[in-house]
Amino acid sequence: MIFPIPPLAWANHRIRRMERQSKNSESHQEKMRTLDDDEADCLRLGISHRFMHISALSPSTRISHAERHGRLFTADEIRQWMVEGDNAISCQCTFTLVLVDENGSPRMTSLLVRAAVARQKFFAARARDDISS
Ligand SMILES: [Zn+2]
Repeated sequence: MIFPIPPLAWANHRIRRMERQSKNSESHQEKMRTLDDDEADCLRLGISHRFMHISALSPSTRISHAERHGRLFTADEIRQWMVEGDNAISCQCTFTLVLVDENGSPRMTSLLVRAAVARQKFFAARARDDISS
């Protein structure tokens, strides 16, 4: 068998990939633990809350992840979304706690406005890239 790259380079490549997957997995577990802890604290203290989805909005960000940037979800909605398809794989999104009133409306809207602007800019840039390529 002809090996396209030297076996040692291949082994190193595999090790780096496993390390990266392990880091991704650790970071995924860490963000889900933070979500669990924040939700538990809010429930214990009787604080109305939601979680804002924060996408990396990077060149490799999936459209379906960017579309959620700045939008509010319950912890259960986030957990459910994360187990759908490949959403959790290489996902750099995170979630931040947002205090809401009894109607589910955020108590402070400035962060949501900023996130919505960032989301619009991301999609405008993607549309420009699609046109120029
Ligand atoms: Zn993501």
